Amino acid sequence: MKQIIAIFLVAFPLFIFGQTTQALPSYYWQQKVKYVMDIDMNVITNRLTGKQKLDYWNNSPDTLTKVFYHLYWNAFQPNSMMDVRSRRQGTIQTNGRPDWDARVKDRILNLQPDEIGYQKVLSLKMNGRPQNFKAQETILEVRLDKPILPRSKVSFDMEFEAQVPLQIRRSGRDNAEGVRYSMSQWYPKLCEYDKEGWHPTPYIAREFYGVWGDYEVNISIDNKYVIGATGYLQNANQIGYGYETPGAKVNRPAGNKLAWHFTAPNVHDFVWAADPDYLHVSKKVRDGLVLHAFYKIVPELLKKQYDGLTATRKAELLNNPDNYVKFYKAQWEQLLDGAAAALPFIEKTFGKYPYNQYSFIQGGDGGMEYPMATLVKGAGPDLFVHEWMHSWYQCVLATNESLYAWMDEGFATYAESRVLNYLGLLRDTSFAQADTYKSYYQVVRSNKEEPAITHADHFNTNYAYKNASYIKGAVFLEQLGYITGAEVRDRILLEYFRQWKFKHPDANDFIRVAEKVSEMKLDWYKEYWINSTNTIDYTFDSLWEENGKTKIRLKRIGEVPMPIDLQLTFKDGTKELHYIPLDLMYGTKPAEDATNRKTYPAWRWTDEMYVVESDRRLGDISIAEIDPTMRLADVERKNNRLKLQ
Ligand SMILES: [Zn+2]
Repeated sequence: MKQIIAIFLVAFPLFIFGQTTQALPSYYWQQKVKYVMDIDMNVITNRLTGKQKLDYWNNSPDTLTKVFYHLYWNAFQPNSMMDVRSRRQGTIQTNGRPDWDARVKDRILNLQPDEIGYQKVLSLKMNGRPQNFKAQETILEVRLDKPILPRSKVSFDMEFEAQVPLQIRRSGRDNAEGVRYSMSQWYPKLCEYDKEGWHPTPYIAREFYGVWGDYEVNISIDNKYVIGATGYLQNANQIGYGYETPGAKVNRPAGNKLAWHFTAPNVHDFVWAADPDYLHVSKKVRDGLVLHAFYKIVPELLKKQYDGLTATRKAELLNNPDNYVKFYKAQWEQLLDGAAAALPFIEKTFGKYPYNQYSFIQGGDGGMEYPMATLVKGAGPDLFVHEWMHSWYQCVLATNESLYAWMDEGFATYAESRVLNYLGLLRDTSFAQADTYKSYYQVVRSNKEEPAITHADHFNTNYAYKNASYIKGAVFLEQLGYITGAEVRDRILLEYFRQWKFKHPDANDFIRVAEKVSEMKLDWYKEYWINSTNTIDYTFDSLWEENGKTKIRLKRIGEVPMPIDLQLTFKDGTKELHYIPLDLMYGTKPAEDATNRKTYPAWRWTDEMYVVESDRRLGDISIAEIDPTMRLADVERKNNRLKLQ
């Protein structure tokens, strides 16, 4: 309870005063799309046919002679790059275990012809003229008959067909929880073109990057199916299934199929999921925002889960499997209450959720984020908070995940811990990111670490990818609070959201916001923390008394230079904080609490040693400690604390 109040008080004034009026850099531009798609879904053959009209605005200063599309589902075929890569990872050992993604393993190799996935482009026209195109597995390359000039618009018309793969990862049909269709990456999707050019990244199971724009998606499907999706349902009173206006009469058109009309403004992807047994609950959580949950009760699955419970847990459920089903149902419904309880804290800390709707949909193999929706496996709080926080870090602040996985996975992990802390649901409560720091120290000890700047597809191991993106990215923000002060870090987060929402910020864009808000240079922090695997280690070299004063010589052992907080605790219980900024910062952090603080001239990054001085006698000191807040990710914490008497 105490921690919750403290965080709330810190965050609240920032929300009020944290607004500034800095404009975007003048060099920034981004492409724009408008998709209109008509989809006909066959739930017997698991195939769909589609018509796609795509308006494309080339806002770049460049003339484009080609365009590229993603054809993600072609990855779900034996011997695809994803299959080969996945099986190869299984031959590598990390921490004594095969490094493959346990959800993929060699499952793609064993897919039968009616189980594979594919997306076939049948025809493609630009401004009415047929175009030459060539599929290279998961990427379609289109050589245009006429170039697209800078700052001009063209229209593409495509016909395509697709087979929904048996669910391996993220998208697919008939997953382990019995959900019929998890429809992510389901349509030919234009690749993004930005200052680095095209991003035709072959799909091997990891990250996404899309063009900002508007979607209009019309799905015709067996009328027994319930759909949860990105976007606002336009014909709710024709559909029903919990979407209808309260009290309205549902008027379904005749026929075996229902046509669902969705629109989604200002997003960079569109996901949907469908099942005939979905239960749909929703909750209005504030003006202009309704949360939805879609889940299903699969008796055999719940029985299996119940059988796996401990005897104690079964006794809690009065040894009645029906009570487990009730518990499961309640978990999904309480998910919306939990989200509603967290929302005010989330919006004050990370920025206001900008859409009118968000859906938690059972349909994942873990969890995966999409605009206005997530596909998750269960309703556990860790998962739903993490995936929802991706609405901020990926769906609205749309970094190129392949290049900056630490900015979406890491920032979402960081936000997840803060929200769980607010809800009182953290395991280790010593500080909000304690578990994340523990994981980071483990990675360092494993000697498997790779720089977080590595392209997400090209890490040598899944283990290194996960830790560089989720863990190191989360520590990056907590440790930024150590450098700039937590209050300033929180202002940086809000300003970052304000300036970069609905855009594609990169690492430098974040650092520039941080520099402007903190009035410090911070490029060195990104260089060391993200671009290298160098580590932090500070310790005490020696202490002595001179003319009744105490001298303490500190020593840097690790390669990464950092500012230093040194706290002295005296036998009488009083404390002093000795603060040494780093020369590369060209600034000092504001005092964070009421402890006496003495600020020193900057520690030059080339220097190994630094001497601080206290007016008190050596014999008065009880404890000397480098960073008692534990936010400095010092890999050898043991030598940070000296107990003198
Ligand atoms: Zn994530």
